[in-house]
Amino acid sequence: MTEFSPKAAGSSALGDVAETIDGGDMDCGSGLLLLITRAMRRLEGGQLLGIRSAEPSVVTDLPVWAELVGHQIDAEVAESADGPWWFAVRKVDQLSRPSVFSDGERTPIGRRLWAYTNFDCNLACDYCCAMSSPKAAARRLDAGVAREAFAEFAELGGRELFLTGGEPFMHPELGELIDAGAGLERTLLTNAMIFSRGRRLETLEKLDRSVVLQISLDSATPEVHDRQRGAGSWQKAVDGIGLARSLGFRVRVAATLYGEDPAGADALHERLDGIGIDRADQVIRPVAQEGFADTGLHVSIDTLEPEPTITADGAWWHPVAVTNPNLRIADSPLPLSEVFEVVRDIVSVQDAAERSGREVFRCA
Ligand code: SF4
Repeated sequence: MTEFSPKAAGSSALGDVAETIDGGDMDCGSGLLLLITRAMRRLEGGQLLGIRSAEPSVVTDLPVWAELVGHQIDAEVAESADGPWWFAVRKVDQLSRPSVFSDGERTPIGRRLWAYTNFDCNLACDYCCAMSSPKAAARRLDAGVAREAFAEFAELGGRELFLTGGEPFMHPELGELIDAGAGLERTLLTNAMIFSRGRRLETLEKLDRSVVLQISLDSATPEVHDRQRGAGSWQKAVDGIGLARSLGFRVRVAATLYGEDPAGADALHERLDGIGIDRADQVIRPVAQEGFADTGLHVSIDTLEPEPTITADGAWWHPVAVTNPNLRIADSPLPLSEVFEVVRDIVSVQDAAERSGREVFRCA
């Protein structure tokens, strides 16, 4: 019989475990995870739990569980080819785990509206959730439809309007679209690369200075940004940020990253601090696995807080998912009241389903 100790595995590769448990023949679905979870509660963040298991499926399932809950498997040692196996799992304190990604806040349904002005773009970024590019169909939002939608939004009590694309400055009537949202807190998302001259510069110069410009910049130096968004795009974005600020606009800078990159995030924050962009106006978000992106954060109607979004030809659950047929909620942007009602209905059904999945076990 195997003595229950990591040392019996003939290895010190497990490191300094704070506690050990023996899972015997249990698999992850039949009690092992409960045993591990109870043991983890007794450990401090950063400490190691030693786990012994004689069940082969645990070799596959335990790493999946660890990734899901955010713990880290530091070592795995097999006593023989047929097991048993030893694992050293490091407890990661979720609350204190730093993330480079900016925190988000839940927005009550009806307060915020997103509108895609168009889908064509001068760039074709490799993570573009809208599948925008110079060749994409423009699918321009009509200025009349925008006026109607934004007026209805204001009447319904809406406050925040975000205009995005594609590259909005490719829409010939961008100024009218933005004017249609007067009275609302307006933010215009842009790559800042094509408004430095001609008609587009005139559009920019005429904009009300209460409009916030959210400009994409993925890194402090060109390497990451240009790799993700196209050669030479970093310098043009930096120039665009400078131009917008020189014209008196409040600029929010948004970066999109494939994964946690603390050094890259720190460098970007430092650069933006250096040019006087407030920390509240520095946003770092993960790539969503939508559109052109074949990796990234998986999103679905069950995992994504709704932020209703209209396009020329429909309405969607969230702006990051406007190419995902499963997140399309209407075939027309109007009437907006119907769009919000559909979203509210879905949220009520989700809430009810969550409640009904739990039994009430009455003891008194
Ligand atoms: S991410 Fe933005 S800038 Fe890049 S292709 Fe998509 S719409 Fe254009």
